[in-house]
Amino acid sequence: FIHKKCPVAAKNDKYVTYTKKWTIPSDTKPGSYAVDFVEKVQFRRTQITATETVKINSGETLSATGFNARPGGKGANQSVAIAKGGGAVYHAGLLGNDAQWIKDFMIENGVDMSHTRISETEGNGRAFIQVSTATGDNCIVLFPGTNAKYTPEDAAKVLESFGPGDWIVMQNEISCGGEIMNLAADKGLSVLFNPAPMTPGIVDEFPFDKVTVLIVNEHEAEDLYRDLGGQSKGKGGLDLAAELLKRFPHMQGVVVTLGGEGVVAKFRQEEDRIRDFIIPCQKVDVKDTTGAGDTFVGYFLATFVRAQNEDYFTRVQYALEEANVAASIAVTRLGSMNSVPTLDEVKAVLK
Ligand code: ADP
Repeated sequence: FIHKKCPVAAKNDKYVTYTKKWTIPSDTKPGSYAVDFVEKVQFRRTQITATETVKINSGETLSATGFNARPGGKGANQSVAIAKGGGAVYHAGLLGNDAQWIKDFMIENGVDMSHTRISETEGNGRAFIQVSTATGDNCIVLFPGTNAKYTPEDAAKVLESFGPGDWIVMQNEISCGGEIMNLAADKGLSVLFNPAPMTPGIVDEFPFDKVTVLIVNEHEAEDLYRDLGGQSKGKGGLDLAAELLKRFPHMQGVVVTLGGEGVVAKFRQEEDRIRDFIIPCQKVDVKDTTGAGDTFVGYFLATFVRAQNEDYFTRVQYALEEANVAASIAVTRLGSMNSVPTLDEVKAVLK
């Protein structure tokens, strides 16, 4: 899955951002990193291994070992994860005229879809995901479809039914997400933001100062901190969480997911009551990491809301633990929305 036009990151560099066309030098060593950059939308860091390196030359065709069409999309996956984690979730958005099956799947999984329209004219978004049969790593090309047609007016109408005490969960996969977040925050909703996929300029497009809880993976945390003018080099997940929390006084928590290493977080109950959380991950047989972050986001919120009778930091601890286990189960299955585990499966691991 190493596209020919990739930069090779320098030793110790976590990733490289680039706009020019690059070619992997022929003496590239297994174990170094390359970053693919898809249509100015998405970065993917990939570790090159001897068995994994496939150079795709322009005009060349490679055979896949299988093909599947499965329901997905960050927001939709997160809504399903909230529902399976026991939360009451209302999904808002615009589906394509070819996506009735996705709507049905979400309803079957407990998501209220009454605020989601189906377009009469436009097709649904698609993510073309190539999954490595050897490592479970993935590489994605994204076509936004109706996700790019959703408007602030659509959102304002939906938000008439919500207010203080409710949460909005937002990602960077639909048009006008920043405007919607502003509308929701101004109505008093709490905001959970998962700024993925990370795009250049995201700090100007979204009102980070109105975010209640931020959930990012380690690469997104580095990108974000750097976009804010910080020096991310040498900083671990917890340092980055601390820096980001410091930048936004309104924020209650920053969660940094660390793939197979688990998760770290920093939460602030009041100005002088701040706590670190470090939660390792169970070792699992990884099949497909697509949707791991989405499962984490949904489960985090479902548990955080469900545990509201506990004291604040206990709620955070429970939410991180359940989300971490739920996501680690999701990576043992192929797919994204369909690989979100049930609450019973998560609880069985936590016993
Ligand atoms: P993203 O999917 O957004 O890139 P991560 O890779 O950090 O985010 O994964 C999110 C969560 O999924 C992790 O915190 C962990 O709970 C779970 N996870 C991811 N990769 C693995 C793995 N290899 N083994 C076990 N759990 C994993």
